[in-house]
Amino acid sequence: MSEMFAVKRGTTILTGKPFACALNSKCRTVRCDNCLKSGKLLKCSSCQYVYYCDRNCQKESWPIHKAECAHLRRVLPKIVPDAARLMARIILRLHRGGADEVGYYTETNSRKFKDLMSHYSDIKNDAKRLEHFTMLYGVLLEFLSDTLMPNVAELMGIYGRICTNSFNILDVNMNTIGVGIYLGASVIDHSCKPNAVAVFEGTTIMIRTLTDLPSLDWSQIRISYVDLLSSNEDRREELHGSYYFWCDCERCKQAEPMAQASSCPSVSCDSPCSIEDDDCKQCGAKLSQAFKETFREVTDFTAHQLEKMKTVAYLDVSKICLKKQKGVLHRFNVQHVRTLEMAHIAAMNLGRWEDAELYGKELAPGYQLYYGEVHPLTGLLYLTTGKIQLHLGKSKQAFEVLKKANMVLMITHGDKHSLVREELKPLLYQATMESNSDIHNGV
Ligand SMILES: [Zn+2]
Ligand SMILES: [Zn+2]
Ligand SMILES: [Zn+2]
Ligand SMILES: [Zn+2]
Repeated sequence: MSEMFAVKRGTTILTGKPFACALNSKCRTVRCDNCLKSGKLLKCSSCQYVYYCDRNCQKESWPIHKAECAHLRRVLPKIVPDAARLMARIILRLHRGGADEVGYYTETNSRKFKDLMSHYSDIKNDAKRLEHFTMLYGVLLEFLSDTLMPNVAELMGIYGRICTNSFNILDVNMNTIGVGIYLGASVIDHSCKPNAVAVFEGTTIMIRTLTDLPSLDWSQIRISYVDLLSSNEDRREELHGSYYFWCDCERCKQAEPMAQASSCPSVSCDSPCSIEDDDCKQCGAKLSQAFKETFREVTDFTAHQLEKMKTVAYLDVSKICLKKQKGVLHRFNVQHVRTLEMAHIAAMNLGRWEDAELYGKELAPGYQLYYGEVHPLTGLLYLTTGKIQLHLGKSKQAFEVLKKANMVLMITHGDKHSLVREELKPLLYQATMESNSDIHNGV
């Protein structure tokens, strides 16, 4: 039994194809509706709504697209909600024998669609979800023929399973490009300190271990359902709001004094302070009323700006926030780390490489703290920083940070993943060559 042996970190313990998935509508014109790859695409001549790489992808998708094609054409230029498309695809799948399909997570353990938790009564008592469901129900009434449309109770069961079991499908840069149901992988529970992570190659999910494990015990495997760059309080609220449980993982039980901390008013002290206290617990510096007021102002201002930047990051706005935060928010305050992230992303989008490098470097300690050293986002940040430094001619620094990217991404993604093969390894090679030639040239 392979389960009895120790499992090294960086092992793929599960691979799976989606039971059903749907491309994110914002990627509609830039990615293939079948395999989610970007590149040169052809439009479905019938609906003019979906795009494909080629005839093969179109053909592969046709059995499922056939049922939606006419409707998608009818609603254009309106866009069908992603959740409605996913639901329609699940209904079609179930209609064609999908109910008997099994997703294995070991050689002998498997799950069917009905084994997924539906949280039926939780959904029924959740006003926000009910409103969403009613909207989707209306869309589906138009979308599907009468013979395919399940009754309300069945439909709510499907909706509940989507809400609490679907995975965001991510591209190599960890951006969401779609949503999918994976029968096998849906068995995995949550922890805010996960020992495994889901990465994707196209629509294929891979669950990889982040730590060494004494054995492959599926009851002990944990991934994170939520973004880990957030406070205990926010994560627990989000998990309860979306998945209907109060997390009591190791991390949630520990106080995280830094997540909402202010700086110490004394510039020579790095200790995080709680704004509820009257003095710094480390050095005794006083937290004046004026300081507390400034902290609340900056916190509110930052929260407001971060909310506005949810869809697009702005460099000027981020810089204003960072300036206000200086000496007020602790450097590990979640809002500050989030602002650095915005600044980094915005600078990258603008091709402002010096800024992008600066904010990337400042962001790294925050990522290490909240995501952990071995996490796809930390590895990706190292990779991006190295890429920028190569661009700026800083090959020695690039080489150092790309070595770190390599250490992390070989665990989170492995040497067979396209991110490692097509992005990391060529960059690492370039950095090796350029830093060697620098040495020879005496730089
Ligand atoms: Zn394709
Ligand atoms: Zn079509
Ligand atoms: Zn937790
Ligand atoms: Zn202090």
